[in-house]
Amino acid sequence: MSALLPTYARSELSFVRGEGAFLFDDSGGRYLDYSSGIAVTALGHAHPHLIEALDAQAHKVWHVSNLYSIEEQERLGQRLCDATFADRVFFANSGAEAVEAAIKCARRYHFANGAPERYRLITFEGAFHGRTLAAIAAGGQAKQLEGFGPPVDGFDKVTGFDIDAVKEAVTEQTAGVLLEPIMGEGGMREVPYRFLQDLRALCDEEGLLLVLDEVQSGVGRTGRFYAHEWAEITPDIMSSAKGLGGGFPVGACLTTEAVGQAMVPGTHGSTFGGNPMAMAVGNAVLDVVLEPGFLEHVAQMGLKLKQQLAGLADGHSEIIAEIRGQGLMMGLRCKPENVKLVAALRDRGMLTVPAGDNVVRLLPPLIVGEDEIDLATQTIDAACADLKSDMKS
Ligand SMILES: *Cc1c(COP(=O)(O)O)cnc(C)c1O
Repeated sequence: MSALLPTYARSELSFVRGEGAFLFDDSGGRYLDYSSGIAVTALGHAHPHLIEALDAQAHKVWHVSNLYSIEEQERLGQRLCDATFADRVFFANSGAEAVEAAIKCARRYHFANGAPERYRLITFEGAFHGRTLAAIAAGGQAKQLEGFGPPVDGFDKVTGFDIDAVKEAVTEQTAGVLLEPIMGEGGMREVPYRFLQDLRALCDEEGLLLVLDEVQSGVGRTGRFYAHEWAEITPDIMSSAKGLGGGFPVGACLTTEAVGQAMVPGTHGSTFGGNPMAMAVGNAVLDVVLEPGFLEHVAQMGLKLKQQLAGLADGHSEIIAEIRGQGLMMGLRCKPENVKLVAALRDRGMLTVPAGDNVVRLLPPLIVGEDEIDLATQTIDAACADLKSDMKS
């Protein structure tokens, strides 16, 4: 029996080595990794530039407290601000912590501006924001809230991407709106650009904050640095994590100056957040992701993948109901149970991740090449054929 809490239904697979888009298990099997540790290993496995940065920092200093200036943290913060809407950054260790900081920033902004009653955020059915008590309340999924006492107060859920429903949900207590530009865990559901633009306009009219959770969709995943750029809007607050550390735990909450100002000394903190090791790796990730041409590569590979998936969907209409997503954040909504396709793919040496709404997520590393897109297409084709013959027999 395992000593670990049984919080995961784990497969027996155990990986001992990775290289680029591939993982190798303890019996020598090779797997095409279209899970990337759930959108984390953005540069694939064992990327030489990340190894070098981690190794160099390990010989200098691993950790100092945020009571001191951390040069690599200042640098990563400035680079994130230069490349986005943001003026200020808070570093954390995970997505949930980045979301938690975003919620606190939204509340504190209104508090600092004489409206402490504005503490509630409008959230969306099917959202996922992490597993802390506030994050599960924000996600609002019964399955994740069950058994954990009264949910943290302050979240008002609306259904669908309907601007009138959002307008109706706004009260004197509303601080802002919180959503993912593409709902990852919820089934790779793309939020229409028009709806994001309408939300931005509504927030401006009502003095509300637009809070985007880009923990999964950020750091180049969709072919732009952050997914909201496609809609040509900017948020007031944004959470980022997953790909930001390329496999090293790094989270960040980005804000405008108006919001950031409210977070005066003592209002928030983290022992590990922004430590030198994490920041050295984060800077190395940005070296690659912000290199001219890199995001174009992601967008091109995403288009190629989407086109090939569309072809597969035509040929396997009994298995694939719909293709969703953008860039290298793609989803296959399935007709049979999604976990069956995940298992069939695994049996053929390809790793994917199930999501809500019966979707299989395809999250290759952003460095994926044409050959690895072709290999994925062939593998999905074969796995769909396997499932079809299973269904007949
Ligand atoms: C994964 C995820 C989180 C939670 O991140 P953790 O690092 O697991 O805490 C939050 N929001 C979104 C959109 C995510 O995809």
